[in-house]
Amino acid sequence: MSNSDVFQDALNRVREIGADADINPEVVESLLYPKAVIKASLPVRMDDGSTKYFTGYRCRYNDVLGPTKGGIRYHPQVTGEEVQALGLWMTIKCALLRLPYGGAKGGVIVQPKELSPMELERLSRAYVRAMADFIGPQVDIPAPDVYTNARIMGWMMDEYEAIKRVRSPGVITGKPVSLGGSLGRDEATGRGAYICIRELALKQDWQPEKTRIAVQGFGNASYHVARLLQKDGFKIVAISDSQGGIYSDSGFDIESLWKEKQSSRQVRAVYCEQSVCQLVEHKEITNEELLALDVDVLVPAALEGVITNDNVKSIRAKNIVEVANGPIQTEAEAELEKQGVSILPDVLVNAGGVTVSYFEWVQNRGGYPWDLEEVRSKLEVQMTRAFEQVWKLATTENRTFRNAAYTVALRRIGEAVTSHGTREYFREDE
Ligand code: GLU
Repeated sequence: MSNSDVFQDALNRVREIGADADINPEVVESLLYPKAVIKASLPVRMDDGSTKYFTGYRCRYNDVLGPTKGGIRYHPQVTGEEVQALGLWMTIKCALLRLPYGGAKGGVIVQPKELSPMELERLSRAYVRAMADFIGPQVDIPAPDVYTNARIMGWMMDEYEAIKRVRSPGVITGKPVSLGGSLGRDEATGRGAYICIRELALKQDWQPEKTRIAVQGFGNASYHVARLLQKDGFKIVAISDSQGGIYSDSGFDIESLWKEKQSSRQVRAVYCEQSVCQLVEHKEITNEELLALDVDVLVPAALEGVITNDNVKSIRAKNIVEVANGPIQTEAEAELEKQGVSILPDVLVNAGGVTVSYFEWVQNRGGYPWDLEEVRSKLEVQMTRAFEQVWKLATTENRTFRNAAYTVALRRIGEAVTSHGTREYFREDE
């Protein structure tokens, strides 16, 4: 699927679920148009003295529930449409988690691996210079996303503060802890996803040792979700990065794989004792082969649109848990439903990240940092509550988990829109 279809696809999903769940059509309509989208060229002085122009986007999708919130991604395939789809999903996600936020997203068309650290810093500062009047702690609050991280958030906060000449840590979340970031933000997306899988396992009486899980992608979120699952006894039988993956029937030790990935930048099947790592038995597999594995749980944790009409028939997993945003195309989803695959949706599964971003923002505004246990226990409360609501609606009304999650979110947004006044507010005889 091209990135321009991804937005239409996201809009269709809102229309369909809105009609199905009997949401006020005016509420659905209000979600079909982004509030504002900005596209800017970002001039960056390269290390060789030349100037290169990058394209950056920020979409404030919908702010009915509060200031808009969402990450900034650095990726060569970023488009304006993709950023809008991601902004819409953030709107649904924040509503589902009951955060006082609307949705937003940003992106820069760039292959960050080709930039030096100094070029990356200049690009990040250029992004904030272009967006400084569009973002703000009460307006729109960025955060990390694909290929952006805490250090980049730190540069961005610094640039924003230099422009505005005020201390303003709440302008961005996912910062380094030393610059006002929250403890536990780095693991939050993975931990939130882990909580969802753990709750699903409890509801459906899965035995962890007998549950085989394949994870597509090996970034920060996948590392934490896989590590926490392994700790509970679940078997991570396959994992990959953009270069390819590895498979082992007996499961991998995630800490060892991560250590190796940090040093060699590769996914290699190793087991480490202290500093000594040895290769373990495994099979090399491609990303396509990983997606087609016969496992209990498939966790797509890389980019959107990886399960499409072209490969949906090869999917054999019984459950898909979406850690990435939008990994399943809508048409492919209908086919998966026919195949009896159950899907836990992105707007629930990866919401731990933005939830702890919200905690970070609250800590910044209060000027009072929390300890790690407090962050973790509040995340636990938020995630299990959202999971429970989705589970209950899905099972009592025979809806898919995605339909249930969207329904909860749309109803919440609907209440706010209706409080402002919709057609019913006007009397015909007046
Ligand atoms: N980029 C993350 C997401 O897609 C986090 C957003 C945030 O923390 O604001 O949910």
